[in-house]
Amino acid sequence: MLECAWFDTDKIFIDGEWIEPLSKNYMELENPSDGETIGEIARGSDSDIGAAVEAARDALAGPWGRVPADERGRILIRISRLVEKRSKELSRLEAIDVGKPIDQAIADANALARYMEFYGGAADKIAGQTLPFKQGYTVYTLREPHGVTAHIIPWNYPMQIIGRSVGAALAAGNACVLKPSEEACLTALAFADIARTAGLPNGALAVVPGLGEEAGAALAFHGGVSHISFTGSLEVGRKIQSTAAQNVVPVTLELGGKSPQIVFSDADLKAALPFLVGAGIQNAGQTCSASSRILVEESLYEELLDLLVSRYSQLAAGPALKNLDLGPLISRRQRKIVDSYLDKGDDLEIAARGTIVPDAPKRGHYVEPTLFAKTAPDHVLAQEEVFGPVQNLIPFRDEDEAVSIANGTGYGLVAGVWTRDGARQLRLARKIDAGQVYINNYGAGGGIELPFGGIGKSGHGREKGFEALYGFTRLKTVAAHHG
Ligand code: NAD
Repeated sequence: MLECAWFDTDKIFIDGEWIEPLSKNYMELENPSDGETIGEIARGSDSDIGAAVEAARDALAGPWGRVPADERGRILIRISRLVEKRSKELSRLEAIDVGKPIDQAIADANALARYMEFYGGAADKIAGQTLPFKQGYTVYTLREPHGVTAHIIPWNYPMQIIGRSVGAALAAGNACVLKPSEEACLTALAFADIARTAGLPNGALAVVPGLGEEAGAALAFHGGVSHISFTGSLEVGRKIQSTAAQNVVPVTLELGGKSPQIVFSDADLKAALPFLVGAGIQNAGQTCSASSRILVEESLYEELLDLLVSRYSQLAAGPALKNLDLGPLISRRQRKIVDSYLDKGDDLEIAARGTIVPDAPKRGHYVEPTLFAKTAPDHVLAQEEVFGPVQNLIPFRDEDEAVSIANGTGYGLVAGVWTRDGARQLRLARKIDAGQVYINNYGAGGGIELPFGGIGKSGHGREKGFEALYGFTRLKTVAAHHG
Protein backbone atom coordinates (compact mmCIF):
# COMPACT_ATOMS: atom_id res chain seq x y z
CA MET A 1 0.00 0.00 0.00
CA LEU A 2 1.16 3.48 -0.80
CA GLU A 3 1.82 5.88 2.05
CA CYS A 4 1.22 9.49 1.10
CA ALA A 5 1.84 11.84 3.98
CA TRP A 6 1.10 15.05 2.12
CA PHE A 7 -2.29 14.37 0.57
CA ASP A 8 -5.22 12.00 0.95
CA THR A 9 -5.28 9.50 -1.88
CA ASP A 10 -8.83 8.35 -1.10
CA LYS A 11 -10.48 11.76 -0.93
CA ILE A 12 -11.89 14.29 -3.34
CA PHE A 13 -10.60 17.86 -3.51
CA ILE A 14 -13.42 20.42 -3.63
CA ASP A 15 -13.44 24.06 -2.52
CA GLY A 16 -9.95 23.79 -1.04
CA GLU A 17 -10.92 20.86 1.19
CA TRP A 18 -10.24 17.13 1.15
CA ILE A 19 -13.59 15.44 1.53
CA GLU A 20 -15.02 11.95 1.41
CA PRO A 21 -17.02 11.13 -1.72
CA LEU A 22 -20.73 11.76 -1.06
CA SER A 23 -21.47 8.28 -2.44
CA LYS A 24 -18.98 6.74 0.06
CA ASN A 25 -17.88 4.54 -2.85
CA TYR A 26 -14.24 3.69 -3.51
CA MET A 27 -12.24 1.92 -6.22
CA GLU A 28 -8.96 0.03 -6.12
CA LEU A 29 -5.93 1.46 -7.85
CA GLU A 30 -3.49 -1.04 -9.32
CA ASN A 31 0.27 -0.89 -9.81
CA PRO A 32 0.63 -2.11 -13.42
CA SER A 33 4.24 -3.16 -12.84
CA ASP A 34 3.23 -5.98 -10.46
CA GLY A 35 -0.58 -6.14 -10.52
CA GLU A 36 -0.73 -5.35 -6.78
CA THR A 37 -3.27 -2.94 -5.30
CA ILE A 38 -1.72 0.45 -4.51
CA GLY A 39 -4.63 1.70 -2.47
CA GLU A 40 -8.19 2.94 -2.66
CA ILE A 41 -9.32 6.05 -4.44
CA ALA A 42 -12.65 7.84 -4.25
CA ARG A 43 -15.27 6.95 -6.81
CA GLY A 44 -16.84 10.36 -7.36
CA SER A 45 -20.51 10.52 -8.28
CA ASP A 46 -22.71 13.08 -10.03
CA SER A 47 -23.37 14.68 -6.61
CA ASP A 48 -19.64 15.18 -6.09
CA ILE A 49 -19.37 16.69 -9.55
CA GLY A 50 -22.31 18.95 -8.75
CA ALA A 51 -20.60 20.16 -5.58
CA ALA A 52 -17.33 20.77 -7.47
CA VAL A 53 -19.03 22.82 -10.20
CA GLU A 54 -20.96 24.83 -7.63
CA ALA A 55 -17.78 25.62 -5.69
CA ALA A 56 -16.07 26.61 -8.96
CA ARG A 57 -18.92 28.97 -9.85
CA ASP A 58 -18.79 30.52 -6.37
CA ALA A 59 -15.03 30.98 -6.71
CA LEU A 60 -15.52 32.81 -10.02
CA ALA A 61 -18.18 35.03 -8.49
CA GLY A 62 -15.95 35.56 -5.44
CA PRO A 63 -12.24 35.57 -4.61
CA TRP A 64 -10.86 33.75 -7.69
CA GLY A 65 -12.83 35.94 -10.10
CA ARG A 66 -11.29 39.03 -8.49
CA VAL A 67 -7.66 37.89 -8.69
CA PRO A 68 -5.93 40.13 -11.27
CA ALA A 69 -4.04 38.54 -14.14
CA ASP A 70 -0.56 39.30 -12.79
CA GLU A 71 -1.42 37.66 -9.46
CA ARG A 72 -2.87 34.61 -11.24
CA GLY A 73 0.48 34.36 -12.98
CA ARG A 74 2.36 34.53 -9.67
CA ILE A 75 0.22 31.75 -8.21
CA LEU A 76 1.00 29.53 -11.20
CA ILE A 77 4.71 30.28 -10.88
CA ARG A 78 4.54 29.32 -7.19
CA ILE A 79 2.84 26.06 -8.24
CA SER A 80 5.67 25.52 -10.71
CA ARG A 81 8.31 25.97 -8.00
CA LEU A 82 6.50 23.55 -5.68
CA VAL A 83 6.23 20.97 -8.46
CA GLU A 84 9.99 21.29 -8.93
CA LYS A 85 10.53 20.90 -5.20
CA ARG A 86 8.36 17.78 -5.04
CA SER A 87 9.36 16.42 -8.42
CA LYS A 88 11.02 13.34 -6.93
CA GLU A 89 7.85 12.33 -5.06
CA LEU A 90 5.62 13.22 -8.01
CA SER A 91 7.64 11.20 -10.47
CA ARG A 92 7.69 8.21 -8.14
CA LEU A 93 3.91 8.38 -7.81
CA GLU A 94 3.49 8.64 -11.58
CA ALA A 95 5.89 5.75 -12.21
CA ILE A 96 4.03 3.50 -9.78
CA ASP A 97 0.56 4.55 -10.90
CA VAL A 98 1.10 4.56 -14.68
CA GLY A 99 3.95 2.04 -14.91
CA LYS A 100 6.23 4.39 -16.80
CA PRO A 101 10.02 4.18 -16.43
CA ILE A 102 11.13 6.57 -13.72
CA ASP A 103 13.19 8.76 -16.11
CA GLN A 104 10.08 9.36 -18.20
CA ALA A 105 8.12 10.19 -15.05
CA ILE A 106 10.82 12.69 -14.04
CA ALA A 107 10.55 14.26 -17.52
CA ASP A 108 6.77 14.50 -17.03
CA ALA A 109 7.15 16.23 -13.64
CA ASN A 110 9.61 18.67 -15.21
CA ALA A 111 7.11 19.30 -18.01
CA LEU A 112 4.37 20.03 -15.47
CA ALA A 113 6.62 22.56 -13.75
CA ARG A 114 7.50 24.14 -17.10
CA TYR A 115 3.82 24.36 -18.18
CA MET A 116 2.94 26.19 -14.98
CA GLU A 117 5.91 28.50 -15.46
CA PHE A 118 5.00 29.16 -19.11
CA TYR A 119 1.33 29.82 -18.39
CA GLY A 120 2.20 31.76 -15.24
CA GLY A 121 4.30 34.09 -17.38
CA ALA A 122 1.56 34.34 -20.00
CA ALA A 123 -1.36 35.09 -17.63
CA ASP A 124 -1.00 38.88 -17.86
CA LYS A 125 -0.26 38.90 -21.58
CA ILE A 126 -3.63 37.66 -22.81
CA ALA A 127 -4.95 40.76 -24.56
CA GLY A 128 -7.66 41.79 -26.97
CA GLN A 129 -7.22 44.24 -29.84
CA THR A 130 -8.39 47.67 -30.85
CA LEU A 131 -9.97 47.51 -34.28
CA PRO A 132 -10.04 50.26 -36.89
CA PHE A 133 -13.71 50.99 -37.68
CA LYS A 134 -16.01 53.73 -38.94
CA GLN A 135 -15.60 57.38 -37.98
CA GLY A 136 -17.05 58.07 -34.54
CA TYR A 137 -16.50 54.57 -33.10
CA THR A 138 -13.95 53.01 -30.81
CA VAL A 139 -13.96 49.23 -31.14
CA TYR A 140 -12.00 46.72 -29.11
CA THR A 141 -12.08 43.07 -28.13
CA LEU A 142 -11.85 41.52 -24.68
CA ARG A 143 -10.60 38.02 -23.96
CA GLU A 144 -12.66 36.71 -21.04
CA PRO A 145 -12.54 33.35 -19.29
CA HIS A 146 -15.27 30.88 -20.25
CA GLY A 147 -16.21 30.29 -16.61
CA VAL A 148 -16.08 26.73 -15.25
CA THR A 149 -13.98 24.51 -17.48
CA ALA A 150 -14.13 20.71 -17.35
CA HIS A 151 -10.91 18.75 -17.80
CA ILE A 152 -11.39 15.03 -18.49
CA ILE A 153 -8.02 13.39 -18.91
CA PRO A 154 -6.56 9.93 -19.63
CA TRP A 155 -4.08 7.84 -17.67
CA ASN A 156 -1.06 7.90 -19.97
CA TYR A 157 0.47 11.34 -19.19
CA PRO A 158 -1.52 12.77 -16.25
CA MET A 159 1.05 15.37 -15.19
CA GLN A 160 1.74 16.65 -18.70
CA ILE A 161 -1.94 16.89 -19.58
CA ILE A 162 -2.80 18.66 -16.32
CA GLY A 163 -0.02 21.15 -17.10
CA ARG A 164 -1.16 21.98 -20.58
CA SER A 165 -4.89 22.02 -19.93
CA VAL A 166 -5.47 23.11 -16.33
CA GLY A 167 -2.41 25.40 -16.45
CA ALA A 168 -3.68 27.30 -19.50
CA ALA A 169 -7.28 27.43 -18.21
CA LEU A 170 -6.27 28.85 -14.81
CA ALA A 171 -3.94 31.38 -16.44
CA ALA A 172 -6.90 32.64 -18.48
CA GLY A 173 -8.97 33.02 -15.30
CA ASN A 174 -11.26 29.98 -15.52
CA ALA A 175 -12.16 27.73 -12.57
CA CYS A 176 -11.29 24.11 -13.34
CA VAL A 177 -12.95 20.83 -12.45
CA LEU A 178 -10.52 18.00 -13.21
CA LYS A 179 -11.67 14.39 -13.64
CA PRO A 180 -8.56 12.21 -13.83
CA SER A 181 -8.66 8.68 -15.17
CA GLU A 182 -9.83 5.91 -12.85
CA GLU A 183 -6.67 4.05 -13.88
CA ALA A 184 -4.15 6.70 -12.77
CA CYS A 185 -5.03 9.69 -10.64
CA LEU A 186 -2.41 10.05 -7.89
CA THR A 187 -0.51 12.96 -9.40
CA ALA A 188 -3.79 14.80 -10.11
CA LEU A 189 -4.59 14.60 -6.39
CA ALA A 190 -1.03 15.60 -5.51
CA PHE A 191 -1.35 18.56 -7.87
CA ALA A 192 -4.45 19.74 -5.98
CA ASP A 193 -2.47 19.79 -2.75
CA ILE A 194 0.37 21.70 -4.41
CA ALA A 195 -2.06 24.26 -5.88
CA ARG A 196 -3.63 24.80 -2.45
CA THR A 197 -0.23 25.20 -0.81
CA ALA A 198 0.76 27.70 -3.52
CA GLY A 199 -2.24 29.86 -2.57
CA LEU A 200 -4.74 29.06 -5.33
CA PRO A 201 -8.05 30.33 -3.91
CA ASN A 202 -10.61 27.76 -2.82
CA GLY A 203 -12.88 26.51 -5.58
CA ALA A 204 -10.59 27.55 -8.45
CA LEU A 205 -9.62 23.89 -8.83
CA ALA A 206 -11.49 20.70 -7.95
CA VAL A 207 -10.16 17.18 -8.51
CA VAL A 208 -12.82 14.47 -8.58
CA PRO A 209 -11.60 10.95 -9.41
CA GLY A 210 -14.24 8.55 -10.65
CA LEU A 211 -15.40 6.32 -13.45
CA GLY A 212 -15.84 7.72 -16.94
CA GLU A 213 -19.51 6.79 -17.27
CA GLU A 214 -20.26 8.21 -13.81
CA ALA A 215 -18.16 11.21 -12.78
CA GLY A 216 -16.86 11.86 -16.34
CA ALA A 217 -20.28 11.82 -17.98
CA ALA A 218 -21.78 13.88 -15.14
CA LEU A 219 -19.08 16.53 -15.57
CA ALA A 220 -19.41 16.68 -19.35
CA PHE A 221 -23.18 17.02 -19.06
CA HIS A 222 -23.30 19.51 -16.19
CA GLY A 223 -25.15 22.67 -17.17
CA GLY A 224 -22.77 24.84 -15.12
CA VAL A 225 -19.76 23.89 -17.26
CA SER A 226 -18.90 26.40 -20.01
CA HIS A 227 -16.06 24.59 -21.79
CA ILE A 228 -14.90 20.98 -22.00
CA SER A 229 -11.33 19.96 -22.58
CA PHE A 230 -11.27 16.22 -23.26
CA THR A 231 -8.17 14.13 -23.85
CA GLY A 232 -8.76 10.46 -24.54
CA SER A 233 -10.07 7.94 -27.01
CA LEU A 234 -11.96 8.60 -30.23
CA GLU A 235 -14.91 6.57 -28.97
CA VAL A 236 -15.39 8.64 -25.80
CA GLY A 237 -14.48 11.85 -27.66
CA ARG A 238 -17.50 11.33 -29.92
CA LYS A 239 -19.76 11.01 -26.86
CA ILE A 240 -18.28 14.13 -25.30
CA GLN A 241 -18.79 16.11 -28.47
CA SER A 242 -22.46 15.14 -28.66
CA THR A 243 -22.91 15.99 -24.97
CA ALA A 244 -21.29 19.37 -25.60
CA ALA A 245 -23.70 19.86 -28.49
CA GLN A 246 -26.67 19.36 -26.14
CA ASN A 247 -25.45 22.13 -23.86
CA VAL A 248 -24.01 24.17 -26.76
CA VAL A 249 -20.60 24.57 -25.13
CA PRO A 250 -17.21 24.61 -26.86
CA VAL A 251 -15.12 21.48 -26.64
CA THR A 252 -11.48 20.71 -27.29
CA LEU A 253 -10.89 17.11 -28.31
CA GLU A 254 -7.36 15.71 -28.04
CA LEU A 255 -7.81 12.17 -29.35
CA GLY A 256 -5.67 9.41 -30.75
CA GLY A 257 -3.40 9.04 -33.73
CA LYS A 258 -1.63 6.81 -36.21
CA SER A 259 1.30 9.11 -36.67
CA PRO A 260 3.85 8.41 -39.42
CA GLN A 261 7.54 9.10 -39.71
CA ILE A 262 8.56 9.26 -43.37
CA VAL A 263 12.14 8.30 -44.15
CA PHE A 264 13.56 9.25 -47.55
CA SER A 265 16.68 7.68 -49.02
CA ASP A 266 18.75 10.83 -48.36
CA ALA A 267 17.88 10.89 -44.63
CA ASP A 268 20.48 11.04 -41.88
CA LEU A 269 19.72 7.58 -40.52
CA LYS A 270 22.02 7.90 -37.53
CA ALA A 271 20.08 10.95 -36.36
CA ALA A 272 16.72 9.39 -37.23
CA LEU A 273 17.10 5.96 -35.59
CA PRO A 274 16.56 6.93 -31.93
CA PHE A 275 13.42 8.89 -32.89
CA LEU A 276 12.06 6.21 -35.21
CA VAL A 277 12.09 3.66 -32.41
CA GLY A 278 11.79 5.92 -29.36
CA ALA A 279 8.62 7.59 -30.61
CA GLY A 280 7.03 4.19 -31.07
CA ILE A 281 7.89 2.61 -27.74
CA GLN A 282 7.91 5.58 -25.35
CA ASN A 283 5.47 4.94 -22.49
CA ALA A 284 5.12 1.40 -23.91
CA GLY A 285 3.54 2.88 -27.05
CA GLN A 286 0.69 4.36 -25.00
CA THR A 287 1.18 7.85 -26.35
CA CYS A 288 -1.33 9.75 -28.48
CA SER A 289 1.48 11.00 -30.71
CA ALA A 290 3.26 7.62 -30.80
CA SER A 291 4.82 7.04 -34.18
CA SER A 292 3.33 3.66 -34.97
CA ARG A 293 4.02 3.81 -38.72
CA ILE A 294 7.50 4.04 -40.23
CA LEU A 295 7.23 4.85 -43.94
CA VAL A 296 10.45 4.10 -45.77
CA GLU A 297 11.52 4.76 -49.35
CA GLU A 298 11.87 1.38 -51.08
CA SER A 299 15.57 1.81 -51.95
CA LEU A 300 16.39 2.28 -48.24
CA TYR A 301 14.18 -0.51 -46.92
CA GLU A 302 16.82 -3.21 -46.23
CA GLU A 303 19.37 -0.81 -44.74
CA LEU A 304 16.82 0.73 -42.38
CA LEU A 305 15.39 -2.66 -41.48
CA ASP A 306 18.84 -3.86 -40.35
CA LEU A 307 19.27 -0.82 -38.12
CA LEU A 308 15.80 -1.18 -36.61
CA VAL A 309 16.33 -4.90 -35.95
CA SER A 310 19.54 -4.17 -34.14
CA ARG A 311 17.92 -1.42 -32.02
CA TYR A 312 14.91 -3.62 -31.19
CA SER A 313 17.19 -6.44 -30.06
CA GLN A 314 18.40 -4.12 -27.26
CA LEU A 315 14.93 -3.09 -26.02
CA ALA A 316 13.78 -4.42 -22.67
CA ALA A 317 10.50 -4.07 -20.80
CA GLY A 318 10.29 -4.33 -17.01
CA PRO A 319 9.03 -2.67 -13.81
CA ALA A 320 8.77 1.12 -13.90
CA LEU A 321 11.26 1.65 -11.09
CA LYS A 322 13.90 -0.42 -12.93
CA ASN A 323 13.96 2.37 -15.51
CA LEU A 324 14.27 0.24 -18.63
CA ASP A 325 13.20 1.16 -22.17
CA LEU A 326 9.59 0.28 -21.46
CA GLY A 327 7.38 -0.32 -18.48
CA PRO A 328 4.21 -2.43 -18.49
CA LEU A 329 0.93 -1.51 -20.15
CA ILE A 330 -1.53 0.25 -17.86
CA SER A 331 -3.93 -2.67 -17.29
CA ARG A 332 -4.96 -6.20 -18.09
CA ARG A 333 -7.65 -4.71 -20.34
CA GLN A 334 -5.05 -2.76 -22.35
CA ARG A 335 -2.88 -5.88 -22.58
CA LYS A 336 -5.82 -7.78 -24.09
CA ILE A 337 -6.38 -5.01 -26.65
CA VAL A 338 -2.71 -5.02 -27.67
CA ASP A 339 -2.60 -8.84 -27.80
CA SER A 340 -5.62 -8.86 -30.07
CA TYR A 341 -3.88 -6.44 -32.44
CA LEU A 342 -0.75 -8.62 -32.39
CA ASP A 343 -3.01 -11.53 -33.42
CA LYS A 344 -4.33 -9.42 -36.28
CA GLY A 345 -0.73 -9.23 -37.50
CA ASP A 346 -0.61 -13.03 -37.99
CA ASP A 347 -0.36 -12.56 -41.76
CA LEU A 348 2.65 -10.24 -41.38
CA GLU A 349 6.30 -11.04 -40.78
CA ILE A 350 7.63 -9.98 -37.38
CA ALA A 351 10.83 -8.17 -38.23
CA ALA A 352 12.05 -7.64 -34.68
CA ARG A 353 11.05 -8.05 -31.08
CA GLY A 354 12.42 -6.75 -27.78
CA THR A 355 12.32 -8.70 -24.55
CA ILE A 356 10.67 -8.70 -21.15
CA VAL A 357 13.23 -8.96 -18.36
CA PRO A 358 13.08 -12.43 -16.73
CA ASP A 359 12.39 -11.10 -13.23
CA ALA A 360 9.44 -8.94 -14.31
CA PRO A 361 6.53 -9.76 -11.94
CA LYS A 362 4.18 -12.26 -13.56
CA ARG A 363 1.12 -10.17 -12.68
CA GLY A 364 2.53 -7.07 -14.40
CA HIS A 365 1.07 -6.22 -17.82
CA TYR A 366 4.15 -6.57 -19.98
CA VAL A 367 4.33 -6.95 -23.71
CA GLU A 368 7.37 -7.30 -25.96
CA PRO A 369 7.88 -4.34 -28.29
CA THR A 370 7.22 -5.58 -31.80
CA LEU A 371 8.14 -4.35 -35.27
CA PHE A 372 6.24 -5.75 -38.23
CA ALA A 373 7.95 -5.86 -41.62
CA LYS A 374 6.46 -4.75 -44.96
CA THR A 375 2.90 -3.80 -44.13
CA ALA A 376 0.30 -2.74 -46.68
CA PRO A 377 -1.02 0.76 -45.90
CA ASP A 378 -4.59 -0.53 -45.66
CA HIS A 379 -3.75 -3.33 -43.18
CA VAL A 380 -5.65 -2.97 -39.91
CA LEU A 381 -2.32 -2.54 -38.08
CA ALA A 382 -1.44 0.37 -40.36
CA GLN A 383 -4.86 1.96 -39.90
CA GLU A 384 -5.99 1.64 -36.27
CA GLU A 385 -4.46 3.01 -33.09
CA VAL A 386 -3.02 0.03 -31.15
CA PHE A 387 -1.85 1.97 -28.09
CA GLY A 388 0.96 -0.43 -27.35
CA PRO A 389 4.63 -0.84 -28.40
CA VAL A 390 3.86 -1.98 -31.92
CA GLN A 391 5.29 -0.43 -35.09
CA ASN A 392 4.83 -1.22 -38.77
CA LEU A 393 7.31 -0.65 -41.56
CA ILE A 394 5.58 0.54 -44.72
CA PRO A 395 7.61 0.91 -47.93
CA PHE A 396 6.78 3.63 -50.48
CA ARG A 397 7.93 4.33 -54.05
CA ASP A 398 8.00 8.12 -54.25
CA GLU A 399 7.02 11.34 -52.52
CA ASP A 400 3.43 11.33 -53.78
CA GLU A 401 2.84 7.83 -52.50
CA ALA A 402 4.44 8.69 -49.15
CA VAL A 403 2.06 11.63 -48.71
CA SER A 404 -0.95 9.58 -49.70
CA ILE A 405 -0.05 6.81 -47.21
CA ALA A 406 0.72 9.34 -44.47
CA ASN A 407 -2.68 11.01 -45.00
CA GLY A 408 -4.56 7.75 -45.44
CA THR A 409 -5.84 6.87 -41.97
CA GLY A 410 -8.32 9.60 -41.08
CA TYR A 411 -6.12 10.54 -38.10
CA GLY A 412 -3.85 13.58 -38.20
CA LEU A 413 -2.00 14.35 -35.00
CA VAL A 414 1.75 14.41 -35.63
CA ALA A 415 4.10 13.48 -38.50
CA GLY A 416 7.87 13.32 -38.93
CA VAL A 417 9.79 13.78 -42.17
CA TRP A 418 13.41 12.68 -42.52
CA THR A 419 15.18 14.09 -45.58
CA ARG A 420 18.08 16.40 -46.36
CA ASP A 421 16.23 17.91 -49.36
CA GLY A 422 15.13 21.40 -48.27
CA ALA A 423 12.47 21.84 -50.95
CA ARG A 424 10.97 18.46 -50.11
CA GLN A 425 10.89 19.37 -46.42
CA LEU A 426 8.82 22.47 -47.17
CA ARG A 427 6.52 20.67 -49.63
CA LEU A 428 5.75 17.87 -47.22
CA ALA A 429 5.18 20.23 -44.31
CA ARG A 430 2.32 21.68 -46.36
CA LYS A 431 0.98 18.46 -47.87
CA ILE A 432 0.76 16.36 -44.71
CA ASP A 433 -2.54 16.48 -42.85
CA ALA A 434 -1.49 16.74 -39.20
CA GLY A 435 -1.55 19.22 -36.35
CA GLN A 436 2.24 19.11 -36.07
CA VAL A 437 4.89 18.24 -38.66
CA TYR A 438 8.45 17.66 -37.52
CA ILE A 439 11.34 17.88 -39.97
CA ASN A 440 14.43 15.85 -39.09
CA ASN A 441 13.18 15.38 -35.52
CA TYR A 442 10.05 14.12 -33.82
CA GLY A 443 8.24 15.67 -30.87
CA ALA A 444 10.79 18.42 -30.16
CA GLY A 445 11.24 17.07 -26.64
CA GLY A 446 7.60 17.71 -25.69
CA GLY A 447 7.43 21.27 -27.04
CA ILE A 448 5.48 23.02 -24.28
CA GLU A 449 5.58 26.27 -26.30
CA LEU A 450 4.29 24.60 -29.48
CA PRO A 451 0.56 24.46 -30.29
CA PHE A 452 -0.59 20.84 -30.33
CA GLY A 453 -3.75 19.11 -31.46
CA GLY A 454 -5.27 17.07 -34.21
CA ILE A 455 -7.33 17.12 -37.32
CA GLY A 456 -9.86 14.50 -38.40
CA LYS A 457 -10.19 11.58 -35.97
CA SER A 458 -7.35 13.06 -33.87
CA GLY A 459 -9.68 15.81 -32.66
CA HIS A 460 -9.86 19.57 -32.88
CA GLY A 461 -8.79 22.63 -30.92
CA ARG A 462 -5.24 23.32 -29.81
CA GLU A 463 -3.53 22.96 -26.46
CA LYS A 464 0.05 23.89 -25.50
CA GLY A 465 1.79 27.13 -26.35
CA PHE A 466 0.10 30.52 -26.31
CA GLU A 467 -2.58 29.23 -28.67
CA ALA A 468 -4.16 27.24 -25.83
CA LEU A 469 -4.97 30.48 -24.04
CA TYR A 470 -7.19 31.58 -26.92
CA GLY A 471 -9.09 28.30 -26.61
CA PHE A 472 -9.63 28.90 -22.90
CA THR A 473 -11.03 32.39 -23.46
CA ARG A 474 -14.10 33.74 -25.22
CA LEU A 475 -13.83 36.85 -27.33
CA LYS A 476 -16.14 39.81 -26.75
CA THR A 477 -16.30 42.77 -29.15
CA VAL A 478 -17.13 46.17 -27.73
CA ALA A 479 -18.19 48.91 -30.18
CA ALA A 480 -18.58 52.34 -28.63
CA HIS A 481 -20.21 55.09 -30.71
CA HIS A 482 -19.10 58.49 -29.47
CA GLY A 483 -19.56 60.63 -32.57
P1 NAD B 1 -10.63 7.06 -22.53
O1 NAD B 1 -11.32 7.81 -23.61
O2 NAD B 1 -11.08 5.70 -22.20
O3 NAD B 1 -10.70 7.88 -21.15
C1 NAD B 1 -10.28 9.23 -21.06
C2 NAD B 1 -11.03 9.89 -19.91
O4 NAD B 1 -12.42 9.93 -20.24
C3 NAD B 1 -10.92 9.15 -18.58
O5 NAD B 1 -10.85 10.09 -17.53
C4 NAD B 1 -12.26 8.40 -18.50
O6 NAD B 1 -12.67 8.14 -17.19
C5 NAD B 1 -13.18 9.41 -19.17
N1 NAD B 1 -14.41 8.82 -19.73
C6 NAD B 1 -14.63 7.56 -20.18
N2 NAD B 1 -15.90 7.42 -20.60
C7 NAD B 1 -16.50 8.62 -20.42
C8 NAD B 1 -17.80 9.12 -20.67
N3 NAD B 1 -18.77 8.35 -21.18
N4 NAD B 1 -18.07 10.43 -20.40
C9 NAD B 1 -17.10 11.23 -19.89
N5 NAD B 1 -15.86 10.81 -19.60
C10 NAD B 1 -15.55 9.51 -19.87
O7 NAD B 1 -9.08 7.10 -22.91
P2 NAD B 1 -7.88 6.41 -22.16
O8 NAD B 1 -7.93 4.94 -22.41
O9 NAD B 1 -7.82 6.89 -20.75
O10 NAD B 1 -6.63 7.07 -22.95
C11 NAD B 1 -6.16 6.57 -24.15
C12 NAD B 1 -6.61 7.42 -25.32
O11 NAD B 1 -6.29 8.80 -25.08
C13 NAD B 1 -5.88 7.05 -26.60
O12 NAD B 1 -6.79 7.00 -27.66
C14 NAD B 1 -4.91 8.21 -26.79
O13 NAD B 1 -4.51 8.41 -28.12
C15 NAD B 1 -5.68 9.36 -26.24
N6 NAD B 1 -4.80 10.48 -25.86
C16 NAD B 1 -4.77 11.60 -26.63
C17 NAD B 1 -3.90 12.65 -26.32
C18 NAD B 1 -3.83 13.89 -27.17
O14 NAD B 1 -3.30 14.87 -26.71
N7 NAD B 1 -4.31 13.89 -28.40
C19 NAD B 1 -3.07 12.54 -25.21
C20 NAD B 1 -3.12 11.38 -24.44
C21 NAD B 1 -4.00 10.35 -24.78
